[in-house]
Amino acid sequence: MIIAYIVAMQAEAQPFIDNFGVQEVPGFFSPLPCRLYHARMGSATDLYVVLNGKVHGSDLIGCESASVATQAAIQKLHPDLVINSGTCGAFSSNGADIAKVYLGNAVMFHDRRVPGDDEWGTQALGNYPVWDGTKALAEKLNLPMGKVTTGSSLDMQPCDLQMIKENNGELKDMEGAAVAFVCSLYNVPVLLVKSVTDLCDNSAETYDEFKRNLAMASEELCKVNIRIVEELKG
Ligand code: SAH
Repeated sequence: MIIAYIVAMQAEAQPFIDNFGVQEVPGFFSPLPCRLYHARMGSATDLYVVLNGKVHGSDLIGCESASVATQAAIQKLHPDLVINSGTCGAFSSNGADIAKVYLGNAVMFHDRRVPGDDEWGTQALGNYPVWDGTKALAEKLNLPMGKVTTGSSLDMQPCDLQMIKENNGELKDMEGAAVAFVCSLYNVPVLLVKSVTDLCDNSAETYDEFKRNLAMASEELCKVNIRIVEELKG
């Protein structure tokens, strides 16, 4: 089985990279900035971790970079499963807490406001399929599930919140729907694993809260990813 993780930030992936001892394959995606790490697990599983990469010293977060990385990973690695692992904002009113890790049971965009006919509205929102083994995996590993909604901003404008609420969104990120969109084009299943760095319904400043909790959320993300890989490789 070929598993390809797509991760936006080095800090989100580092505990996982260290734990699995995946080795960097320098220049694999050149000229793209995406970075590849690889480990052979047992006799039948190839584990790849793909980072979107950096420009001017900063991790490339967001939909465009996630789409490029996912497309490159699918074309060059031919994964059986893509896993988008990262952090998100969530709502304490839904029972979320800092560093709680969820599997995404649905995924859509929340900031693409395209008036017109139904087809355009539907296309803008996305609502892409997630891996059909997600629910069974969540039950087996006793993990909560939630709907991921993706936008291009860390902050949340009132119209974003309205869209999220109307569509029962729970996990707000900046990559999930972009990764799932590319996977849907190639018919590759996608699993979303999201760890909460900040709460969208408290009074804290989002970026401060994100920075404060990034390390802890990434550690918890790593623990869950270890269990997921153990389960998938059988
Ligand atoms: N690169 C910046 C901050 C990135 S924050 C820095 O460290 O200085 C945004 C990243 O965290 C994105 O990859 C996104 O997927 C995730 N994220 C965490 N909380 C989020 C929220 N409330 N809304 C949107 N994305 C969030």
